[in-house]
Amino acid sequence: MTTLNFTNRRYLDALAQKVLVFDGAMGTSLQKMNLTAEDFGGERTLGCNDYLVITQPSAVEKVHRSFMEAGVDVLETCTFRANRLTLGEYGLGSRVLEINRAAAALARKVADEFAAATGQPRFVAGSIGPSGKLPSMNDPELSNITFQELSDIFAEQAQGLIEGGVDLLLIETSQDILEVKAAIDGLQQAFQRTQTRLPIQAQVTLDTTGRMLLGTDITAVLAILEGLPVDVIGLNCSTGPDYMREPIRVLGELSPLPISCIPNAGLPLNVDGQAVYPLLPEPFAEEMAEFVRKYRVSVVGGCCGTTPDHMRLLVEKLRGQPAPAVSATGA
Ligand SMILES: [Zn+2]
Repeated sequence: MTTLNFTNRRYLDALAQKVLVFDGAMGTSLQKMNLTAEDFGGERTLGCNDYLVITQPSAVEKVHRSFMEAGVDVLETCTFRANRLTLGEYGLGSRVLEINRAAAALARKVADEFAAATGQPRFVAGSIGPSGKLPSMNDPELSNITFQELSDIFAEQAQGLIEGGVDLLLIETSQDILEVKAAIDGLQQAFQRTQTRLPIQAQVTLDTTGRMLLGTDITAVLAILEGLPVDVIGLNCSTGPDYMREPIRVLGELSPLPISCIPNAGLPLNVDGQAVYPLLPEPFAEEMAEFVRKYRVSVVGGCCGTTPDHMRLLVEKLRGQPAPAVSATGA
């Protein structure tokens, strides 16, 4: 494979100038809308958020708008589970390209509209969540997939996102570092196929002990990802900012790449079988702003449970905040 030059560097160029704020949660925001089976296109696809961009795009658009109005810089596409395997659970495995293209085009439309109206550049990140497989695991069912098969699955999703017009690709909520490698490999395939090279932001999820599901800690993550074509490295989901502090501090010290941090609104509590995210906007925004000042974090945002209020406060606290120095060492 030949290496392509960036065909769109807008996101990375903006990142060199200022701290960028991602939107808050898509999933928990949609949940609050009490959507019906009809909205989801029937009982068979009930709960498939990614399919809403086809069956009820106005619901997704509403969430995008709420975060744009809060002043964030980056929208994530509603495609967290829009790969062949997870869409396949709803009988939608053959519609990967269509769904990803539609989701990307929808976010693009809203982002461009707000950029034109406010003069603030807005970006679209193509969200790529886990496949549901854990290739590093011993479990016969969860590990029952080859590296090449996984890579092809991510290539297909990425192609749809690229064709729909995203500015960067976001591999997120990853729990198995081997799957992250497969996703990055798949993205290279998609770049070749579309002759487009976009920035890659890779985010893993750590538990409260600071490790990925299969034991990989943050220094191992960094050592592995540093050698791959990744442009931004970070953490998202799982816990609130508190538990991310130590691994983010380590990244701030060691990472030659820009760092992203997109936590949940606190560690979820189980209230009557429902996940409740306890961290209120003010302490959330204050802790995130502190991470920016202390640990060289240059991309922040909100995962599960974060609302437009969380993001609005964070945008306010970071107004005028210059980008941290790019390199930890030698800066
Ligand atoms: Zn989350």
